[in-house]
Amino acid sequence: MNRAYNFNAGPSALPFSVLERAQQELLDFQHTGMSVMELSHRSKEYDAVHNNAKQLLKELMNIPDTYDILFLQGGASLQFSMVPMNLLANDQIGNYVLTGAWSEKALKEAKKVGKTHVAASSKEANYTYIPSVHDIQLSEHAAYLHITSNNTIFGTQWHEFPNLPVDLIADMSSDILSREINVEQFALIYAGAQKNLGPSGVTVVIIRNDLLERIPENLPTMLDYRTHSTSNSLYNTPPTFAIYMLSLVLEWVKEQGGVKAIEKRNIEKASVIYDAIDESDGFYSPHAEKGSRSFMNVTFTLPSDEITKKFLAEAKERGFVGLAGHRSVGGCRASIYNAVPYEACEALAQFMKEFRKQFA
Ligand code: PMP
Repeated sequence: MNRAYNFNAGPSALPFSVLERAQQELLDFQHTGMSVMELSHRSKEYDAVHNNAKQLLKELMNIPDTYDILFLQGGASLQFSMVPMNLLANDQIGNYVLTGAWSEKALKEAKKVGKTHVAASSKEANYTYIPSVHDIQLSEHAAYLHITSNNTIFGTQWHEFPNLPVDLIADMSSDILSREINVEQFALIYAGAQKNLGPSGVTVVIIRNDLLERIPENLPTMLDYRTHSTSNSLYNTPPTFAIYMLSLVLEWVKEQGGVKAIEKRNIEKASVIYDAIDESDGFYSPHAEKGSRSFMNVTFTLPSDEITKKFLAEAKERGFVGLAGHRSVGGCRASIYNAVPYEACEALAQFMKEFRKQFA
């Protein structure tokens, strides 16, 4: 079998052992005579999967009892709307920090719901950095402050979170579970699963319970966080297979030594690639400023479009997949989520060094 060095931005690499286990269990899940996809979502077997996923996430992220964990559909993109629909009252203002395309999209949806304010932005510099927490200017009557903890496209990441007298909401789609965080710094965290948590199809929302009390009464049932909180995310049919895969990925994280161990490895993985960039005398040029570099998405450009094309073509021949950058940044992007092994990052760094020699 020939497994690729998978640097896809999402959906992205899953742990090999998780895929193997899913394969083993596919035809006959725990002696039920059927796959997990064919079980009723009201069965005791599925219920155990569902609650195990929830419990493991709680344990791995150290989520206090004052928070609820929801498994929703609609991707992180639906959260761009659900957050303001549930939490932005008429007399309040939704505050947003713009650090990339996903923050812009979150703001765009909030504007359709209520009043908004841009509390800080690095748009003028094509999102090469994360604004300092000291430069955040909150509006009056702020309902919340929304940030994107890791900017998948631009390759920047918050390394210090704002600590302001306002409810902090974070889109953690591309770095949830990649590093230790203190959940209590946040009022609400959301993340599409397809980077660090599992396959696409399920979106995790971690919400502080008191927020549920400020939700307006007239929301469509499915868009109201209370619906999913009171029904343990079983109001309607949940994405059972995606949640099953999530539970396997969470078990894998636990086996690896938990988030602390994963974080350590993620730093090593990112460092080996950033070192190849920094040692290249400017041949590889990083998009992100040093203090804002992402440990999940390493973005860089090469001296010309022609050389970039050649780099990508040769990389492909060597089995490196998913390295083309997003069109708004150009160049290359290596997405090195939790399931991407250190060896893949080391092999990429080695290839980068060899490729550069052709132009020396
Ligand atoms: N936020 C971030 C930071 C993302 O990286 C993405 C997807 N790449 C999204 C939101 C959108 O997620 P989804 O496709 O699950 O709606």
